[in-house]
Amino acid sequence: MPEKTEKVLKITVPAGHARVFEVKNGGFFTVTDIEGGQITDLVAFNADDLSEKISGSHTRLGLHSIRFKVGDSVRSNFRRPMMEIVEDTVGTHDMLVPACDDQRYLVDYGVIDHRNCVSNFEEVLAPRGIGRGSIPDPLNIFENATVDEAGNLVHLPVVSKAGDHITFRALMNLVCAVSVCPMDLNITGGDRITDILVTIDRNEKQRRES
Ligand SMILES: [Zn+2]
Repeated sequence: MPEKTEKVLKITVPAGHARVFEVKNGGFFTVTDIEGGQITDLVAFNADDLSEKISGSHTRLGLHSIRFKVGDSVRSNFRRPMMEIVEDTVGTHDMLVPACDDQRYLVDYGVIDHRNCVSNFEEVLAPRGIGRGSIPDPLNIFENATVDEAGNLVHLPVVSKAGDHITFRALMNLVCAVSVCPMDLNITGGDRITDILVTIDRNEKQRRES
């Protein structure tokens, strides 16, 4: 157990911005809503083959559900399990809605140059050679969207409270990015944007299994 105490990394992701991080196969990472009510977009790539990345459609089919819960695995575009949900204090997340982008704010709200998740991802992933066309649809952590009986996509207010979190276990070496969604123009994002915390813990497996 030589590396034991050096393997916990905490990243505070500033409101409206993104950060990138790596998680080794078997490692854990947690996304924590520090103040509550903050949607956080998450994307992940196979660190050993960046053409493999999370896929909402493959995950939905794999789970036969539009939602994911503890024990479920998020699938890749190659249909392989990439990461497993091991803890979740909220239970309300989304994998139907695409990341917000400049057109979302311009066309739907008439706002020019609003910060957005796609540009956030581009900023942090470009140094890794990942361009806009290679960024998958995200998992929208803490986003409260669903489908009603008529098939309509319904956006509801976020229910996460301060300290709520979700933890994933990596099932392959991952490059991940999170964007603290800057949406402040509708009910889904609440009325203010707040920091979130990402904790990467490579000791957790040993602790939980001991
Ligand atoms: Zn967004």
